[in-house]
Amino acid sequence: MSSASDAAGGDLSDLLAGPAERVATGASWAEGPVWLADVEQVWFSDIKGNRILCFDEPTGQLREQVTGAEYSNGRTLDRDGRIVQCSHGRRRVELLHRDGSTTGLVSHVDGSDGSTGAARLNSPNDVVVAQDGALWFTDPAYGLQSPGEGHAGDLEYGGCHVFRFDPATGDLHAVITDMTRPNGLAFAPDESLLYVADSARAQGHGPEHGIRIYEVTADHRCVNGRTLAEIDPGVPDGIRVDRHGRIWSSRADGVVVYAPDGTLLGSTPVPETVANLCPGGADGRSLYLTATTSLYRLRLTEPF
Ligand code: MG
Repeated sequence: MSSASDAAGGDLSDLLAGPAERVATGASWAEGPVWLADVEQVWFSDIKGNRILCFDEPTGQLREQVTGAEYSNGRTLDRDGRIVQCSHGRRRVELLHRDGSTTGLVSHVDGSDGSTGAARLNSPNDVVVAQDGALWFTDPAYGLQSPGEGHAGDLEYGGCHVFRFDPATGDLHAVITDMTRPNGLAFAPDESLLYVADSARAQGHGPEHGIRIYEVTADHRCVNGRTLAEIDPGVPDGIRVDRHGRIWSSRADGVVVYAPDGTLLGSTPVPETVANLCPGGADGRSLYLTATTSLYRLRLTEPF
């Protein structure tokens, strides 16, 4: 049963232990956070600064980890704990090693990294790893079309798709081709559903500003897509799904949370525009937010 308070959403006081706290600042456009549990650090992209920053949780210090990062964006960990990241500049999904070097994983729509004659990806934006080790990533065109976020270039395969790449076989195929600017993505806990943010409205590429939901088939296709929720103000960028299947999304004025059926649960304000979020913290009860120039932290009432 819906009510007026459901429609407006709450303050998330049952999920959050307090308001967002700024823990570091000094980026030009912060994105793509990943929590490294072994060193208790958050590594994140400063896209327009073309570098990767490291927030060290035990000391609270921020340092420059990688320079000349070729406009890296979203990242996650694979099943072996290695960092997988998207590079606008290299138009590929790659491994980021702890020494700052990278190894390409997929860069062309035929899946053969470095091959000639095939169409290149646009500028991979965000990536998740499935239980079977496959990488699912979005490929909008921000790195080609937004000054300071990559190198100008063409959309060589003619769209902005969501792809599944299997590192074990080299197979790459498009799983979603009906979105305008697919951006953040996340699976439901059992991987039966895939949520994908469409941020087209942000730079006038289209009216879309919602989170799409797709059913994932056993043969790794996405079907029956529909819009789960429209994000206002702003657009959704990074999204995450918690252990209960709730969807946490960035929004211009903070972070917003939806129930699995799309019911708005509530929101919490953040002083800067939020781009992305990742669970972490030494006790597993933090949610780190990259928001424009800064890194913020939300403390949670239970592990994500
Ligand atoms: Mg993004």
